[in-house]
Amino acid sequence: MKLLEGKVALITGASRGIGKGIAEVFAQHGASVAFTYASSDEKARALESELSTHGTKIKGYKSDAADFNAAQQLVDEVVAEFGTIDILVNNAGITRDTLLMRMSEEQWDEVIRVNLKSVFNLSKAVIKPMLKAKSGSIINMSSVVGVQGNAGQANYAASKAGILGFTKSMAAELGSRNIRCNAIAPGFIETEMTAALDEKVVQQWRDTIPLKRGGSTEDVAQATLFLASQMSAYITGQTLHVCGGMLM
Ligand code: NAP
Repeated sequence: MKLLEGKVALITGASRGIGKGIAEVFAQHGASVAFTYASSDEKARALESELSTHGTKIKGYKSDAADFNAAQQLVDEVVAEFGTIDILVNNAGITRDTLLMRMSEEQWDEVIRVNLKSVFNLSKAVIKPMLKAKSGSIINMSSVVGVQGNAGQANYAASKAGILGFTKSMAAELGSRNIRCNAIAPGFIETEMTAALDEKVVQQWRDTIPLKRGGSTEDVAQATLFLASQMSAYITGQTLHVCGGMLM
């Protein structure tokens, strides 16, 4: 059964990793997909042609999610091209890890801008088309680190915790308009980035997780599909932990 037939989704940061996994699952489920990226032009073009085999409209946009005006312009362009936006996935994110003692103002500001301000920018921009459609689903990618904190990631943890408060506030404001807002908190997800790490270290991480493995991008994508679709019609303001039981 295709869960997103006829729907239009906008996904930020989908040239690789978790965002790419979400774009793939959404397209498999019949959605037209507009996605963004920061600089990976080649990967974006490759994803466009990979996803176009599903027969829905697919387009990648180079757009800085941290830039307020660019986000508004992006949403205007997507609505002009796709007709509307039913689903927004705020997935774009970065890390600039270091201990607080060594953290520069730039490292703090960059992470807050890309991870948190971007969620404000895109969410604000999609409200208009979603109000017009009298429905919508906004899904924000947080992290277990936003729930429990992590040494060396004070900037990242603050941005991801901020997303949780923002999500609940949006859910309270927009529920009466049939616009749902939820967050996902992934744990340790194995991507191209983690493949470069020492296998012994990665195995130690896996051993501490109750399900005894790292998550895949597909694990997060399936949870995102659930929150995007009518399967979760009565769920808003929630945080779904996709972490193999790492946080209970
Ligand atoms: P990733 O592989 O590093 O991919 C990041 C994506 O975001 C790329 O498509 C990148 O585009 C894009 N991006 C970066 N800055 C951007 C900007 N300013 N504007 C628009 N797009 C931008 O990341 P990931 O591991 O898949 O993580 C995706 C999300 O899940 C992030 O929010 C992350 O914090 C969260 N998360 C990840 C994990 C994990 O274990 N991987 C765990 C918990 C939460 P380019 O390719 O052009 O650079």
